[in-house]
Amino acid sequence: MVIENLAEVEKRICAACERAGRSRDEVTLIAVSKTKPVSMIEELLPGGTRDFGENKVQELCEKYDQLPRDIRWHLIGHLQRNKVKYVADKACLIHSVDSLRLAEAISAEAVKRQCIVPILIEVNVAGEESKFGVPLEETEQLVRKIAELPGISVQGLMTIAPFVEDPEENRTHFSNLKKLCVDLKRKNIDNVTMSVLSMGMTGDYEVAIEEGATMVRVGTGIFGERNYS
Ligand SMILES: *Cc1c(COP(=O)(O)O)cnc(C)c1O
Repeated sequence: MVIENLAEVEKRICAACERAGRSRDEVTLIAVSKTKPVSMIEELLPGGTRDFGENKVQELCEKYDQLPRDIRWHLIGHLQRNKVKYVADKACLIHSVDSLRLAEAISAEAVKRQCIVPILIEVNVAGEESKFGVPLEETEQLVRKIAELPGISVQGLMTIAPFVEDPEENRTHFSNLKKLCVDLKRKNIDNVTMSVLSMGMTGDYEVAIEEGATMVRVGTGIFGERNYS
């Protein structure tokens, strides 16, 4: 089932790229495997899927230990400073940095390990109180401060858009984030590439691609509903 679901998502990604006049290889599909067993991830490996997303440090580390080293693990969930040491060398990209304090902890760990950790800044595009992420208006200031840290490379922006019935409702949020990304890129800040725009989930990834996403994070659409009980 997982393979068929992935094929359907892939088809829709291609169609969205075509509508937007974009090339399929501008968009990375991250299969969000949180709460799902290692066996489901393994089903996708022969087809070439290597980008997987997890939102909890412990779960990412457990799966990391059980699966091949060429998997690219994306940490997409909120990260606590005391857990940075566990993921710093396991995640290929941390999508959820929204404070200078967290960035400082990541940088300190990177310096200790003599590596550079690639991160995205999480932006709260709709100003929802329940969500993590920095407000749009404060993003540039935070990017500039984080860019000064020695152990970090700021690769771009990420957002979790509001949960909506009709994905069209999120189009403006996605285009606003794309605009911000382009603006920041033009400023040529040292240590900041702004080459990644991580936005779009099962309900709205096609709209996100039309508005410029370079990474979409799809869980339910590939692995089915999650059971949190
Ligand atoms: C769970 C999760 C996703 C995937 O959500 P689906 O709606 O199941 O596709 C994407 N991004 C983040 C940050 C998540 O926590």
